[in-house]
Amino acid sequence: MANIAENIKRIKNQLPDGVKLIAVSKFHPVEKLLEAYGAGQRFFGENHAQEIAAKAPDVPHDVKWHFIGHLQSNKVRMIMPHIDMIHSIDSVKLIKTVNKEAARIDRIVKVLLQIHVAQEKTKSGFRVDELLSLADTGQFEGLDHVKVCGIMAMATNTDDKKQVALEFSTVRDTFEKLKKDFFSQDDCFQELSMGMSNDWKIAVDQGSTMVRIGTDIFGPREY
Ligand SMILES: *Cc1c(COP(=O)(O)O)cnc(C)c1O
Repeated sequence: MANIAENIKRIKNQLPDGVKLIAVSKFHPVEKLLEAYGAGQRFFGENHAQEIAAKAPDVPHDVKWHFIGHLQSNKVRMIMPHIDMIHSIDSVKLIKTVNKEAARIDRIVKVLLQIHVAQEKTKSGFRVDELLSLADTGQFEGLDHVKVCGIMAMATNTDDKKQVALEFSTVRDTFEKLKKDFFSQDDCFQELSMGMSNDWKIAVDQGSTMVRIGTDIFGPREY
């Protein structure tokens, strides 16, 4: 049995100041989430719209939901009242839908642009060159109900630490280029969401500001 409170404490003790821990509670019941909440955890990551909508009424109001999975445009409305940040913007169509749905309920929602640096084709996200050219043509401008706060990425699932470090450093370089060329006036553009249970230490070494950790906190998921 995972001791959730101890796991959170152990991880937080190892995170440098300013690096946020997102506890990935997907597929875990609300009771486990509340155990983490009791240990002071406030940021929770989920990757299914239905799961956030189902859990949200059963948790305290200061829980901050972070959406981290592939998001279909037709599910945006379902999460909009609950969500603190969407890490996984992977198309122009999606960010426009998020902007529209946020406007509909008169709020501003924080988002990250997801880039694809891993070797697995199944992982989603913009290619680096694609993202830079979309930014260059102003595709992320004029969206008054979203705040672009940085970028998110997943590394290849491999034991090759050098490969993972190289991918994370590509993410950081892309973040810095975007910040300098397109988001320099944007105070909010400062988050680099990278690192999961098996690679978060490497991610932190490479400049991560948000680690998304599930298994290391809650134990294995039962699908
Ligand atoms: C599930 C998931 C995580 C957490 O994975 P663990 O290996 O359990 O820490 C992090 N990020 C994303 C995008 C995920 O889908």
